[in-house]
Amino acid sequence: MMLQINPVYEPQMSQGSESLAAEWVTFRRCTDIDPNVFFPNDGAGVIVAQKVCAECPVADACREYALANNITHGVWGGTSERQRRRILRDRRRASKAARAA
Ligand code: SF4
Repeated sequence: MMLQINPVYEPQMSQGSESLAAEWVTFRRCTDIDPNVFFPNDGAGVIVAQKVCAECPVADACREYALANNITHGVWGGTSERQRRRILRDRRRASKAARAA
C-alpha cells in the first residue's frame, strides 16, 4: 500500500499548505486514534472512520486538504476515496460550466 499522509500522523505538508495545516491539525479529533482506522479495507471500516470525522471540528479543512493535494487513499474529512473523486469531478464540471456561460 502506498504510504499517504494522514492527519493522525505529523503531516508532511506540501509547499504552500504549511500555514493551513498548522491551523487545523492542532484541533483534529483523531490525535489518539490508530491511523489504520482511516485507511479501511472495506465499507464497514469507512463508516467507522466517518463516525470519528463526524465529531471533528476541523473536518472541512481536512477534506479540503485532501482534495487540494490529490490524496487518493483513506478517509479524510469524513469523505471516502470515492466521495472525494465525486467532489472533484463535480467541481471540475461546475468550473467548466461557469467558464462556458
Ligand atoms: S476529519 Fe477525520 S481524519 Fe480529518 S482530522 Fe478530523 S478526525 Fe482526523
